[in-house]
Amino acid sequence: MREVVLLHPPSTYSGGANPFSLMPVGIFSLAARLLEEGFDVEIVNVPLEAQLAGARYADVVKRLEAEVYAISLNWFVHADGALETAKLIKMINPSAKIVVGGLTAAVFAEEVAGSGYVDAVVLGEGEEALVKYVKYAVRGSQPPDWRGLYAKVGRRWVRGGLAEPPPLERVRYAEGFRAMRHAREYLKTGILGFVPAQQPHFWFAVARGCLFDCIYCGGSREGYRFAMGRASVAVRDPAAVAEEMAQLSEAGLRIARLTHDPQMLGDRWWRRLFEEVRGRGLDLKLYWESHRLPAPHLVREASRTFAALDVAVSPETASEEVRFRAKRYFTNDALVKALDALKGAGALVELFFLLGLPGETVETARLIPRFASKLVEERGYAAVYPLIPYTIDPNCPMALHPERYGVRLIFRSLKDYARAARGRKTEDFIGHETRELSRRQIAALIEELNGELSKIPQSEAATLKLEFEEKP
Ligand code: SF4
Repeated sequence: MREVVLLHPPSTYSGGANPFSLMPVGIFSLAARLLEEGFDVEIVNVPLEAQLAGARYADVVKRLEAEVYAISLNWFVHADGALETAKLIKMINPSAKIVVGGLTAAVFAEEVAGSGYVDAVVLGEGEEALVKYVKYAVRGSQPPDWRGLYAKVGRRWVRGGLAEPPPLERVRYAEGFRAMRHAREYLKTGILGFVPAQQPHFWFAVARGCLFDCIYCGGSREGYRFAMGRASVAVRDPAAVAEEMAQLSEAGLRIARLTHDPQMLGDRWWRRLFEEVRGRGLDLKLYWESHRLPAPHLVREASRTFAALDVAVSPETASEEVRFRAKRYFTNDALVKALDALKGAGALVELFFLLGLPGETVETARLIPRFASKLVEERGYAAVYPLIPYTIDPNCPMALHPERYGVRLIFRSLKDYARAARGRKTEDFIGHETRELSRRQIAALIEELNGELSKIPQSEAATLKLEFEEKP
């Protein structure tokens, strides 16, 4: 029997849905911290294990034996799966302790605790709080305080308040990777699951928190502070990040994905990262999501350092007014110029749009396909993606201040998010409406616009994407 199993649940047990097999990278730092304290730890990705074994999710969970099960509930997409996993474990092994943590767990701590299947909820960034709880549950050591935890102590629930976020110099990720079951397969796993042709990839945590407040984002400065208690962005040492890339390169890594836009962290930061990568002779490709528009000098330097680049850019809307209201400050002209500046830079640029922002009307939404088509036309290195139904983050500024942003919340509780995870129709995933668009209109427009977007010819960019993901 293990002392601790860190569990990544499927999004739902009800079948058919996207399993969301990709794990929040924080699981690895939790494992690293527990290993450092001498605990016997394993990370188990339930949907990945089920896929590899051709088994049901429940069968994977039933075969586990541990004293403490730490279930990840970072993204709301796992709202149903995380609590179903807890319920299943309590049925099979009632004496085991179950602790749930992550952004969503912290936001809905009362509801998670009240589910009846959970012994503790981590409040905030979890490294120290989880160690504290595991020491209590496995070694019986009484903590000096319950900060960072909402825990059942005897028959009482004790709420210790948000944990103090740890200094990032102490946080390690690659070391936690040693605890991963089917680690090599996990390097070929994405949201939809294990893909044998996928080149090994990994998300590298380069910072925590954000400098910005895009109103729809739960990772924003305000949203992250609300859930995790970190006031602003904290940045890791670039040499430590490069060292982790080197460690995972030994396990076959080919694609490094960054959790934050290096541009946000400043020229000095990314120049140092790239030097450290070159200094170690690493042969990797690089993916990042640009927080605004990618600067040409950054892309040039990145292409000197990495074998290939893939940069995501999110204009979100064709309307500058709507984009500015969402606190993303660049004009359509600036976007076109930024794309042109990347011509010949060797980077694939992926463009993302989102429907349901305040101020977006039926008329402005219908401008998206033509605008998107203009952006990729004669730019074989640019691709536009279909609209993914946007589910409002429970802790994004728009959800924290719905009146300020002209939004009506439909999803207010963890149960609402769990229901969405079991959803089938586009409308099931929409958790808000705006003054301009109802939930039904948002869903109908997504389907209508995706029909238009699918007609945009972009075979050159599709080939580049395939090469990026699957070519050694
Ligand atoms: S979308 Fe990106 S830049 Fe905007 S708040 Fe979220 S993490 Fe920050």
